[in-house]
Amino acid sequence: MTTPPVFPTKTAAEWGTYADSLKWPTAMIIDGKPQAGRDENLVDLVTPRDGSVVTKVPYASADELEQAVSAARRAFDEGPWPRMAPKQRKELMLAWVALMEEHRTELATMLSVEMGKPIADAWGIELRALINTYRWYAEIADKELDEISPIGDDLALITREPVGVVAVVTPWNFPLTLSAWKIAPALAVGCTVVHKPADLTPLTAVRIAELALEAGIPAGVLNVLPGKGSVVGKALGLHRAVDSLAFTGSTEVGRAYMEYAAQSNLKRVWLELGGKSPNIILPDAPDLQAAIDTAAWGIFFNTGQMCTAPSRLIVHQDVADEVIAGVLAAAKNYQPGDPFDPSTKMGPLASSSRRAEVQAHVDAALADGSTLAIGGHSVDLSAPLAGGAYYEPTVFLNVNPDSSLAQNEVFGPVLAITTVKDDDDAIRVANNTDYGLAAGLWTANVSKVHRLSRQIRAGTVWVNCYEEGDLTVPFGGFKLSGNGRDKSRHALDKYTELKTTYVKL
Ligand code: NDP
Repeated sequence: MTTPPVFPTKTAAEWGTYADSLKWPTAMIIDGKPQAGRDENLVDLVTPRDGSVVTKVPYASADELEQAVSAARRAFDEGPWPRMAPKQRKELMLAWVALMEEHRTELATMLSVEMGKPIADAWGIELRALINTYRWYAEIADKELDEISPIGDDLALITREPVGVVAVVTPWNFPLTLSAWKIAPALAVGCTVVHKPADLTPLTAVRIAELALEAGIPAGVLNVLPGKGSVVGKALGLHRAVDSLAFTGSTEVGRAYMEYAAQSNLKRVWLELGGKSPNIILPDAPDLQAAIDTAAWGIFFNTGQMCTAPSRLIVHQDVADEVIAGVLAAAKNYQPGDPFDPSTKMGPLASSSRRAEVQAHVDAALADGSTLAIGGHSVDLSAPLAGGAYYEPTVFLNVNPDSSLAQNEVFGPVLAITTVKDDDDAIRVANNTDYGLAAGLWTANVSKVHRLSRQIRAGTVWVNCYEEGDLTVPFGGFKLSGNGRDKSRHALDKYTELKTTYVKL
């Protein structure tokens, strides 16, 4: 039995010293080599922890993008990766996983610096998800069997083939987990990848690709291009040598990727988009305190920057007073703090411009007549964190289900509470959104569990829990929350084509 890894014991100051000792990756990864980029394309990387410049990152030029796509194309069309025995791909990916484990503390610290995630969450939650996801898909590489159709005397084979070159465009909120959910299954089935990380979080993406090379993953199989979405992402979306594109981010940009595909080669486009997830608490919740604590955790974890955040709390009138009082009390435990402090539960927003966007949503909610119960303002921590992007935990009451706050994804620590009169009212309010990513339902009544969870239009319904998960279960959205599924065996559908080979015997 291997010993489980232990979160290093360090004070905030010691995490700071450790971060200062790190060597930031300052190159793109193209065709198996770090590439420095052009001086004129170097861009400051600013940490939301204190607003300081950490390093400079090279953004990909049009030339470099061509080199990366050509490298991925060559690695797919001529290279060993799609042709090697799946068992061999598995071994190489497992060697890569071992390096991720070895570099866990370094990667967690880079992540905390890039986007302000509390170090305990970065190390404990995101690095665990990264490592587990790559391990799970490495293990599946040699366990997928093909089919033979029962057609009589002839022979018909139904085989899965890798789709080809996959562009992966990812956001900054869970940059490691969300990239792994796409890159790991794509590589496991033999595709090659060009990854464009969010402009806020390029460091970890490049470092993970460096580890892939160290593990022996061949040149061109995983290329990483930092850069602006509107430039590099768009060019990948329009590129005719890209066969499939997997994206997580806003619905607006997801729509743009479908347009890029339509304008170019009809590449397959897979979208995991936003959410405005309802969390319904009924009077017969089996443990009301657990429902309250989870409602607060769900909206303040990761500073509310989570596509599945239960941002609409829909509470039955019979327990509304108790639930609201409990959530307001719990919110006080999420005062924003230094992400390097291991006891911090809520860090800054990912950038000062994100903080301005959150404030705009709050101002719109006030103008709409929602009642501000707590929060609603930026927080200026004292020096040396004075330049950080901190924001108060914020709760609105009496939110009209049609208002801007109930309809639009804030992506910040802002909870909208609506009181309903019965179950039907709860379902009507829950479904009153263009999104359909996830939902929560709290009830001990087994009939309601089945009946109501079926009525909720969402890709995941959590009953008497929230955010529970496992790699064996798929994740993705209904309606404007996207198409296709990440995680589980179902994710392999996105990176494979089904081929029929009919043989006359
Ligand atoms: P975006 O959808 O804008 O960004 C996600 C990714 O798409 C990034 O890699 C980004 O690059 C890229 N991108 C941005 N614009 C374009 C474009 N025109 N063409 C091609 N690619 C593009 O999300 P934001 O980071 O701006 O956040 C805005 C909102 O999106 C949030 O407030 C939230 O509502 C939602 N969102 C949802 C997420 C989810 O998990 N479902 C994750 C992140 C955001 P770059 O980093 O260079 O901008």
